[in-house]
Amino acid sequence: MRSVYLAIVLSGIAGAQSISVGTAVAAPGERAAGVIAVPAGVDAAMDIPVIVINGAKPGPKLALLAGAHGTEYASIIALEKLARTADPAAMSGALIVVPLLNVASFLQKVPHINPVDGKNMNRLYPGKPDGTQTERALWAFTKQVLEKCDYLIDFHGGDLDENLRKYSYWADTGNAKLDAVSRDMVLAFGLDHIIIQRNRPSDPRPAGVTTVTRHAQNLGKPSITVEAGHAGTTDAEDVDALMLGAMNVMRHLKMLPGDAIPIAHPLWIGRSTAITSDCEGIFYPLVVPEAYVTQGMKIGYITDYVGDKVCHIMAPVSGVILYIGALPSMKKGDNIAHIGELADSQ
Ligand SMILES: [Zn+2]
Repeated sequence: MRSVYLAIVLSGIAGAQSISVGTAVAAPGERAAGVIAVPAGVDAAMDIPVIVINGAKPGPKLALLAGAHGTEYASIIALEKLARTADPAAMSGALIVVPLLNVASFLQKVPHINPVDGKNMNRLYPGKPDGTQTERALWAFTKQVLEKCDYLIDFHGGDLDENLRKYSYWADTGNAKLDAVSRDMVLAFGLDHIIIQRNRPSDPRPAGVTTVTRHAQNLGKPSITVEAGHAGTTDAEDVDALMLGAMNVMRHLKMLPGDAIPIAHPLWIGRSTAITSDCEGIFYPLVVPEAYVTQGMKIGYITDYVGDKVCHIMAPVSGVILYIGALPSMKKGDNIAHIGELADSQ
């Protein structure tokens, strides 16, 4: 019996290979931590932390990214915990975990952007080797992680100023095979609100905006985005939902033993409408995330600094509040809320 057991173990190891990402090099059955070095250019160098958990048995490479927005803390903590608890001996395939892409945002507590160059770290893929720090970091991530992985999950959440309800994004790219795989991933992840992104080549989109999942899809890699947490918090409910979701996708991809039970009846959201502020002042929300609102309903108001109401915020569409401003600070052009309009099931 012993020789049979050894033969099985050895054949498994023979199929798996060492994986290197940046300075992290993990042999089969091992975990390794390191950094993806972003060299100095027109501004400072930076190091992106990375953890490679290489399963004892061969299988797919799943990349997990958080902290493109460095103050969406629940998603960052979820990946820190997952990377500590994932057991390479029990895994087939590998996890490439980048738990905090935007280190300067995290350290300086600046939401939405990289404070080094003022750019959003989830808009400018594939990046540029000779751009500013954000562009060089995205270029390094593209080369070191995106081009090496088979699947991607991008983790976000409500930022410091956002009160958010948990949800995922699934993209309709028009590539039926790719979309079927990512649809199964988002159902396995298990969040019960799923926003459909219209990412077909013919669909309009803002010029110059390419997110990490969109670029991954351009490279033919199934990818989804997931969001949980809000306003600087790291509640166990949000962290656990993100960890368990990732583990369910690993089961679905046969990286872990056991079955992933897909969410049975998710709420599909066909369109997400952003409301931005026309006023400066103090914001008072009148609804909470997950509330259903009808078109024309008042969802908040803004006063000036002596208490006079200067703006009434009305829902432009009927739907569910996906997030709403969490802080009193409100200036012109800021996001106030996102409302999701329900779609037929997909
Ligand atoms: Zn984000």
